[in-house]
Amino acid sequence: MAEEKNPFQTAQAQFDKSADILGLPEDIREMLRWPMREFHFRIPVRTEDGAIKVFQGFRVQHSDARGPSKGGIRFHPNETIDTVRALAMWMTWKCAVADIPLGGGKGGVIVNPASLTPVEKERLCRGWVDQMWHNIGPRMDVPAPDVGTTPQMMAWMMDEYTKLQGQYVPGVFTGKPVDMGGSLGRTEATGFGVIFTVREAMKHLGLNPSQCTAAIQGFGNVAQYAAIGFRDLLGGKVVCVSCYDLADRCPYTYSHPDGVDPRFLQSITDQYGTIDRAKAEAAGYVIEDAMAWIDKDVDVLIPAALEDMITAETAPRIHKNVKIIAEGANGPTTLEGDEVIKSRGIFLIPDFLCNAGGVTTSYFEGVQNDMNYYWAREEVVERLDQKMTVAFHGVLDMAQQHKVYMRDAAYLVAVDRVVRAMRLRGWV
Ligand code: NAD
Repeated sequence: MAEEKNPFQTAQAQFDKSADILGLPEDIREMLRWPMREFHFRIPVRTEDGAIKVFQGFRVQHSDARGPSKGGIRFHPNETIDTVRALAMWMTWKCAVADIPLGGGKGGVIVNPASLTPVEKERLCRGWVDQMWHNIGPRMDVPAPDVGTTPQMMAWMMDEYTKLQGQYVPGVFTGKPVDMGGSLGRTEATGFGVIFTVREAMKHLGLNPSQCTAAIQGFGNVAQYAAIGFRDLLGGKVVCVSCYDLADRCPYTYSHPDGVDPRFLQSITDQYGTIDRAKAEAAGYVIEDAMAWIDKDVDVLIPAALEDMITAETAPRIHKNVKIIAEGANGPTTLEGDEVIKSRGIFLIPDFLCNAGGVTTSYFEGVQNDMNYYWAREEVVERLDQKMTVAFHGVLDMAQQHKVYMRDAAYLVAVDRVVRAMRLRGWV
């Protein structure tokens, strides 16, 4: 049996495939197969009982050819350097495909944030910055929240950096609270971005959005706003959403004969994206098993929960009437699942194009911080729509020109843009 690849080996294999199609020379491959630089450091934190705990921290800057590195910081007990490297490389491609002037980075700390008190969390955040402040900044590398980190933590980190610099530098972190230099429209950005790409795919396929239906997996940040956007921006009907039930320790699908009301469901959903089952049942929702969303007779499937959901086993269950799969989540489709989608000719909007609305709005946050002038929510959403629409068509044109699958086309667009920047800068 083939040895399972770690995430970084997978990311490298995906890059190699695009490099082959683009015919990239060895020197360029050597530069892009590995991060440009990475930092490994120890962070001592005094706990509330007076002891010192030492945590392992990382920051990987994969490429800054197109601009400062950009990417979140994860606080997770299973964090590894290879996960951080892979995520940093994917950020390079995501920023390039969205055509925002940023490169790719990612950071992490090996820690279970739930094991820390709020005071200890703040000390860990400040400790991370104390180790990294010489190598981050609005013109160098701009971190953001990710798994296990929050807008409040970004505010502490920005404050620490500002103290060390001796001047106010809000643009060093994005994903800050709106009252502390964050951008309006960030909450809905990823889900709405998904819907803008779905709208363009419908135009391309000649579908009338108001007559289309969707099944969505997940009901966290991305899925909630994808559901709201599908109904309110496109006029379509969402037949179901799903979520993991923390009490029962298993996921369920929630459907409604008249289509779900995402605003109502949002009002009975907790901060972890878990719907209150009793309240949903009382409102006439039908509760089905975890993967029921994938069997639905709908036009659009939006996996927006976790990775590895569309697999060799589940992909054959996709209904014959499904025309579009929009990957709201990162990596929801395995290699085998991808082969099924490809062979059935379903139109795919690949993850790092489909969910680029989040990082695009983080870029807008940095722009507003630089200007020290803040846009209205409507302006943010309108600019996001423009960016996502142009990004979608860049990938579609590539797919049509080279007669390749949309996922391969997205890689080709992204890698080509990064390589062009490297050549223009005289690096290769
Ligand atoms: P979240 O934690 O807010 O929500 C996740 C949702 O998925 C929850 O409703 C949870 O109950 C549900 N879920 C978990 N396991 C499930 C299962 N087996 N079946 C059905 N539902 C399940 O997360 P999020 O921020 O919405 O992110 C979702 C995905 O989108 C992740 O892959 C994330 O990396 C990606 N993403 C998020 C953003 C962003 O801005 N939030 C940006 C880009 C990509």
